[in-house]
Amino acid sequence: MAKIFCIANQKGGVGKTTTTVNLAAGLAKVGQRVLLVDLDPQGNATMGSGIDKRSVELSVYDVLLESASIKEAAVRAEKCAYDVLSANRELAGAEVELVDLEHRDQRLKMALAAVEGDYDFVLIDCPPSLSMLTLNGLCSAHGVIVPMQCEYFALEGLTDLVNTIKQVHANLNKDLKIIGLLRVMFDPRITLQMQVSDQLKAHFGDKVFDAVIPRNVRLAEAPSYGLPGVVFDPSAKGSQAYVEFARELVLRAPTL
Ligand code: ATP
Ligand code: MG
Repeated sequence: MAKIFCIANQKGGVGKTTTTVNLAAGLAKVGQRVLLVDLDPQGNATMGSGIDKRSVELSVYDVLLESASIKEAAVRAEKCAYDVLSANRELAGAEVELVDLEHRDQRLKMALAAVEGDYDFVLIDCPPSLSMLTLNGLCSAHGVIVPMQCEYFALEGLTDLVNTIKQVHANLNKDLKIIGLLRVMFDPRITLQMQVSDQLKAHFGDKVFDAVIPRNVRLAEAPSYGLPGVVFDPSAKGSQAYVEFARELVLRAPTL
């Protein structure tokens, strides 16, 4: 049965999508069967996996509105060796269209139930908001992976996310928990980043992943080639760190 994780943080531009595509590629590299679900109308994870969001016939939108199954809508990202349930602008409309529908926050969960046996990991890239889309992600998942930059306001932003997760846990999804915090875009030469990193470990203990993702320009360049850094330049420091993270997650998975 697949482990289903949301990659979420209400803050924009913190590295959610970079983490989702590179973790997916890293997990595939170590032999795991992976489905990436793009829940962001920006479609960055779709494009970053080499799938043209403008030309996909069926997307996560069709799945949420129950006009297609995940089996029908998912496509293979050949070079990346994982499957993608893609997203495009159409998905922005789903928010409104879901409002009047039954089980509107459980649609993704119901659809995933049919493919849980086909994958080891399902990774859901969430948009930077607490929308009905993110709620569908949180209701489907066993846990949340939180990418974060070690900056001054990082801890403050985390309080909001932790409260959201508590609420979803109490009301909608008893399984949901924080799997871990992932330090991304990390630069150990910056004293403040080291201090915030120490604070994180003091507050959250072993909920902070051992793997640390450095700031690395190859990770930022890779999307313009339609590839995760892990596939685009496997020797880059950032790519190696994501493969290390994938290994850590595989080791932890049985206890999660
Ligand atoms: P959004 O909230 O808009 O969905 P996001 O949280 O998904 O954003 P990303 O798109 O993954 O964030 O990253 C934001 C920017 O930072 C991108 O330009 C990305 O290439 C860059 N970036 C992410 N991680 C790294 C890294 N480790 N090193 C260098 N650049 C990075
Ligand atoms: Mg994103």
